[in-house]
Amino acid sequence: MAVLKISKNISYKEGTHSNTAIRRRIKNEPNEAQLKAMKTLAKKVFEPLRENFGEPIRVNSFFRSIALNKAIGGSRTSQHCSGEAIDMDGMNGVTNKKIFDYIKKNLDFDQLIWEFGNDKNPDWVHVSYKSAKENRKQVLKAVADGNPVYQIIEAGKEIAQPEAVVSKKKSRKAVVAVKTVLNVRKKPAKDAKVVGQIKNAKKVKIISEEPGWYQIKADKHSGWVSADYIKLKSTNSTSSPEQ
Ligand SMILES: [Zn+2]
Repeated sequence: MAVLKISKNISYKEGTHSNTAIRRRIKNEPNEAQLKAMKTLAKKVFEPLRENFGEPIRVNSFFRSIALNKAIGGSRTSQHCSGEAIDMDGMNGVTNKKIFDYIKKNLDFDQLIWEFGNDKNPDWVHVSYKSAKENRKQVLKAVADGNPVYQIIEAGKEIAQPEAVVSKKKSRKAVVAVKTVLNVRKKPAKDAKVVGQIKNAKKVKIISEEPGWYQIKADKHSGWVSADYIKLKSTNSTSSPEQ
C-alpha cells in the first residue's frame, strides 16, 4: 500500500496528528479541498524551508477539524481548519527565529506569526498560505499579555475583495430618517417580528446588509431595518487592522 503523503517530507500522519484528537477520540481527517490546501502550503512554504536548512522541521499542528480546533481552544476562524496553516518547530540548531526570518524574507505567505516566546525566539512559528493572489503577507506577533493578543508587525498588502464582502465586513455609521418611528425587525423581511423601535435622527451602526435591508446596532437595539429609512453618513471609514 502506498503511504499517503502531503509532501516529500510531511506524511499524512504528521499532517493530521493531534494528541488531543487521539485522547478525546475526535475525528481529524481533511476532505479533498482541505487536503489540497495542505499540499499547496507544504509545497510553497514547508518544503522550500526544509530544503534551505537541510534539517528536519517538526510539524506541531497542521490540519485541525472544527471539532478538534474547538477542543483545543483555537481561534474560531483558524486557518488550520481549512488546511491553510501550519505550526512548526525547528530542530538540530535550526531555531524558530531562523525559520521565521527565512519565511519572512524569502517566501510568499498569507500570515506569518511569531508565536509567544521572547524577543530572541518564538515558541513556535505559525504560517498560512492561501494562493499567490490571495496571500496578504501579514506578519504578526502573539503576545501573552496585553490587548490585542496579536500585534501587527507588517500589515502586508491589501487584497481586493468583491464589493459584497467588503460592505459586509466594515461597519458604517448612519442616521435614521423617518417621520415617526422605525421598526427594528428580527429578520430582513416585512413580516418579521418587530424587536424594537428607533426614533428619527437616531444614530445607528450598520453591521451588514441584504437587498433593501440593513442590519443595525444602536445603543439598545440590534436587528434589521428597511434601508429606505436609513441615511448613510460619509463612507470614508477609518480602517481597522484585520487578521
Ligand atoms: Zn497555528
